[in-house]
Amino acid sequence: MSQQQLRQAVESGVPDAFQYMHPLMASNYGQWDWHDRPRPGVLHHVAKNGDQIWTVRAGTQRQMDTDTIRKLCAIADEFAEGHVRFTIRSNIEFMVSSAEKVDPLIGKLNQEGFPVGGTGNSMSMIAHTQGFLHCDIPATDASGVVKSLMDELYDEFVNERMPNRVRISTSCCQINCGGQADIAINVQHTKPPKINHDLVANVCERPSVVARCPVAAIRPALVNGKPSLEVDERKCVCCGACYPPCPPMQINDPEHSKLAIWIGGKNSNARSKPTFQKLVAAGLPNNPPRWPEVAALVKKILRCYQEDARDWERVGEWVERIGWARFFELTDLPFTRFHVETWRGARNSLNASSHIRF
Ligand code: SF4
Ligand code: SF4
Repeated sequence: MSQQQLRQAVESGVPDAFQYMHPLMASNYGQWDWHDRPRPGVLHHVAKNGDQIWTVRAGTQRQMDTDTIRKLCAIADEFAEGHVRFTIRSNIEFMVSSAEKVDPLIGKLNQEGFPVGGTGNSMSMIAHTQGFLHCDIPATDASGVVKSLMDELYDEFVNERMPNRVRISTSCCQINCGGQADIAINVQHTKPPKINHDLVANVCERPSVVARCPVAAIRPALVNGKPSLEVDERKCVCCGACYPPCPPMQINDPEHSKLAIWIGGKNSNARSKPTFQKLVAAGLPNNPPRWPEVAALVKKILRCYQEDARDWERVGEWVERIGWARFFELTDLPFTRFHVETWRGARNSLNASSHIRF
């Protein structure tokens, strides 16, 4: 592709991917014939013209210092062919054009502490939201939860021994920019926001904050002679949506901001349509630095899925087959009235499948 043909720079969106692509991938774009996985963490693609490429996938800690990035680039220059890419779950992939280069590359990655895996029926890296590093509203450090969980689930990353792929995500507020996953660990607020009335008039655009509340629990109010806001605590569902546009409505709390586990979400259309995840456990302590209660529960759910699901069933499909009652029995989790979902708006308003479009 000549310099003139490159896309113009724009202020948003991804840059043109072709300029960074391994030359074999760029020249065979759309021309791949078949692929297989010679071992966990390695993908092998064969093009219609006979070209072959091996991709080695390694886990990273996602939020990386410059020394680590330089180390990964040096590995790419010395052991791969100078090209890398990141997957959406923060795995790094190195591409090589001959099978002989695969083992030395894996050896070097392992030696430097980067596990190779995350392909096929394994548990890929846990996707996590920005956390304290980039976002202004987190109630927990999502990357910390990921680190502690991946330390315990390391073997499931480097082996492919799950019934199907397992995607896990963590989110550090209830807005959940982490998206759908087989298992999701999300912050759950349990108390309404505490309002600092001295600051509201200076910091918050009150009509926007009132409009932000999904259950119309916020009203304008005069407090101590100053314009402020008040919350009807009987209506408030503790979602935290008022906190980003109005930081004086503090909802994060070391004791009352908890973690909840949701399961059964997926984005793929394979076998069944995409599904939303459903709540299975709430009120777990937000307990750094190792979040042991969350780790124990996620491991228990994973073990039940591993033992009871049929080949190729995703977590949500497994639960749909055995029924939620059986799921709660198998995992020994208490079923409470909070698990009953009564919201029906999604049926009419959300297009959850790409199978049919009108
Ligand atoms: S999950 Fe919430 S707090 Fe965390 S990065 Fe996303 S929007 Fe910010
Ligand atoms: S936490 Fe959510 S429900 Fe409660 S007042 Fe704020 S926006 Fe409304």
